[in-house]
This record gives sequence, structure tokens and C-alpha cells, in this order.
Amino acid sequence: MAATDYETVPEVSRQPARHGLVVMKFGGTSVAGPDRLKRVAERLVAARERGAQVVAVLSAMGDSTDELIDLAHQVSDNPKPRAMDMLISVGERISGALCEMAPHDLGYEAVSLTGSQAGIVTDTTHTKAKIAQIRPHRIHDALDRGQIVLVAGFQGVSPTHDITTLGRGGSDATAVALAAALGADACEIYTDVDGVFTADPRIVPEARKLHAVSYEEMLEMAASGAKVMMLRSVELARNYGVTLHVRSTFTGAEGTWIGEEDDRMLEKAMISGVTRTVEETLYRVSGTTPAKLFDALAQANVNVDTILQTGGEIVFSAPFEDRGDASRTLDGLGLSWSARDDLGKVSVIGAGMKSHPGIAAKTFATLAGEGIEPAIVNTSPIKIACFVERDEVDRAVRALHAAFELDRPGAERPHDG
Ligand code: ADP
Ligand code: ASP
Ligand code: MG
Repeated sequence: MAATDYETVPEVSRQPARHGLVVMKFGGTSVAGPDRLKRVAERLVAARERGAQVVAVLSAMGDSTDELIDLAHQVSDNPKPRAMDMLISVGERISGALCEMAPHDLGYEAVSLTGSQAGIVTDTTHTKAKIAQIRPHRIHDALDRGQIVLVAGFQGVSPTHDITTLGRGGSDATAVALAAALGADACEIYTDVDGVFTADPRIVPEARKLHAVSYEEMLEMAASGAKVMMLRSVELARNYGVTLHVRSTFTGAEGTWIGEEDDRMLEKAMISGVTRTVEETLYRVSGTTPAKLFDALAQANVNVDTILQTGGEIVFSAPFEDRGDASRTLDGLGLSWSARDDLGKVSVIGAGMKSHPGIAAKTFATLAGEGIEPAIVNTSPIKIACFVERDEVDRAVRALHAAFELDRPGAERPHDG
């Protein structure tokens, strides 16, 4: 069963492709202070000097989105979603305004735009809106004037003229949607690691940087916890054929290419990575049908991931942040239900799994060897996901990473050889 529920694509008013345009997205670490913002500006100016037209998408500085969310919870236990979006969209505007100042000193002009000014129209779902349409006229005008365009990531405007945000990590979605809408030659994602690794390098120091990953693999990795790319952004990239280059904000080194599957990916290594999440709740529900249950959860915008049905019982998982919406929905349906927050999920992902038997056997043998017994298992053609005790998750990741030899040369799928 495929665990990942892929979504529909936004309408992008397709204009003639802008050849020589690059979209560059800078994450929170990349813009975390005045010096880093100046370095971003230097990178943008360098791209202009090479002859490129430049659209940059900026995230909020450092942890400022988390700080704004904390602040909201100090005012209200259940902050109004509309007000939340007014608040947390501000972080990205600060980065844009500051970054607009720096290129001027280097002889170039930049203009910063809010999501709304950039023509990013979303649906009306506050705090996890989806981009519905892009009307990039203002961006085109600025590019025609030779300006560097800085777009506040993570936000848009609804048809009712309210500010919306796109969900955590949403600046990635802004960048990919703009690259598609503008027909950019390249979409570069600058972040605080050197690319997409075989596991989160903060948990597995031996993890290797992958040279190339297919959209399908990156979708599964993002859906199962590798937050280096936001899930929705990878889906947009796949649907519009936008090739992504995930790379370090600190160096000029080549990072990881995300694009269509190619034979090398299948041959080089069966497994591309091991991912983990400890931010999901597992619900057990009885006394309803899947049709009724998942319709109600969808109406409440709960992002359901794993689904299992056994006998009269339905088990599903959803992110912690959807806990309030999920609880209200289940109570509203008058069901008997329970929830567990003490599990985490470890997933083994690889396009080569389709044609290589034995991956499941090795996964379970490795976990058994560690004395870890999965509570729930869920698979797709290129993923095996196991729910295990929360405090066993990182040990499981390390053991599986070693068992599939992802720390060895070759795991990174080099170009040659
Ligand atoms: P940004 O602020 O640039 O958007 P994020 O914090 O959203 O950056 O994503 C980058 C982080 O993703 C890294 O610091 C890393 O800890 C984490 N991460 C998790 N899994 C992976 C992986 N497989 N490869 C690379 N990074 C990963
Ligand atoms: N600042 C937002 C967040 O922290 C969006 C992003 O960084 O992509 O989730
Ligand atoms: Mg991110």
C-alpha cells in the first residue's frame, strides 16, 4: 500500500520560459544573521554577474518561526489560525527586507516582495494552505528592470485576501512553484547540510551525501521524516518536472540532484536512505468505516500518513501538529478511539527495492538483532516503514544504515564507474 497521499497541483499561469533564470531558495540557517544575509546577497549578485536573472526565496531568520509560534502559545492555548498566519508570515518578510538592502552596496538593485505581492494565491486553509495559482506579473516586471527579486517564502494570499502560510518548511514549496511558473532553468535549494544524505547526518555521522535521488525516493524520504525537503515541494517538482539541486549555503560544492529516476540510481544502490520521525501520533479507531473516517479527517485537513485496517479496527498516523484537529474530528464522529504518542517510525527507502527481493527480510532481521520489535509495519513499492518505541528509533536508524552498508563508498551513487 502506498502510504503517501499525493496532492493535486496548483495552476501556474504558464508564461514563456525565462531562459537564464535561476530560482535560489535560502533556508533559515542561510539567513540567520546580518553577515549571512550579506553572503546571500553576494551569491545573488554573483549569479547576476554571470548573466543570470535571479529570483531568491528566503526563509525566516534562524529559529524565528519557532519563536513566533511559542509567542502565540503564550497568548492563547489554541491560537486562531488566521492570526497565526498574520504572525508567522512576518519572519520571511524580515529576511526579505534586510536582504533588499545589501545588493545596493554591490551595485545591483533588489526588490523584496511578500507572497501576496509576488502573486502567490493559495486556498483558504490557514497554517497549511496549498498554492492554488501563481500570478507572477510583478516578478516579471522587476526582472525586466534587471532587479534581483526576493520573494518571502512560506506564504501567500487567499481568495478572501487573507494572508496564509504553507506549513512548516513551506519556503521549499514557494521556490519550486515559482521555478515551475517562471520556467526557470534551475531551482537551487541552499541549506545547512551539503545535500540529501543516506540518513540525517545529525543522527548518523557516517551518512553519505547522495549524488542523485529520484522524485519518488525523495517523496518517500520527505514523507517519512527527512525534512531537508518539504514533502509538498517535491511533489510540485515531480509534477512540473523541475530538477532540484540541494546544496550547502556555506560552500560552492555540488550537492544532490533530485529528478527523474535513471538507471544508475537503480544499479548503484538498492537503498537510498534510512529516515525517521518521532513527530507522529498513532490512532486506533473502531465503530466506523474508512470512507466516513477519512472523509471527516480530510475535511479537517488532517494529514494522514500510515493507514491499516484489521477487522473492525482502523489504525492511522498523523503529525503531532494535527493532534487537535484529529481529536476534535474523532470526538465529533462519536467514536471510541485511543492515541499513542510514544512511538516513532523508521523507514528504509530505495527505488532499487522494486527489483531486489530480500530487503524486508534484512530489515526485520536487523531490527530483531537489536532486540527491536516493530509495533506496526507499512510498506510501499520503494519503502518499508516500522513503528517502534520512541527511544529505539535512533538505534534502529543506525543499525539499518550499517546493515545496508550505506556508510560505504558507492552508497552515494557517484557519476562515474
Ligand atoms: P532549511 O532551514 O535550510 O530549510 P531544514 O532544517 O528544513 O533546512 O532541513 C535541513 C535539515 O534536514 C538538516 O540540517 C538535517 O538535519 C535534516 N535532515 C534530515 N534528514 C536528512 C537527510 N536524509 N539528508 C540531509 N539532511 C537531512
Ligand atoms: N520559516 C518557515 C518554517 O520554519 C518556512 C521555512 O523555513 O521553509 O517552517
Ligand atoms: Mg526546510
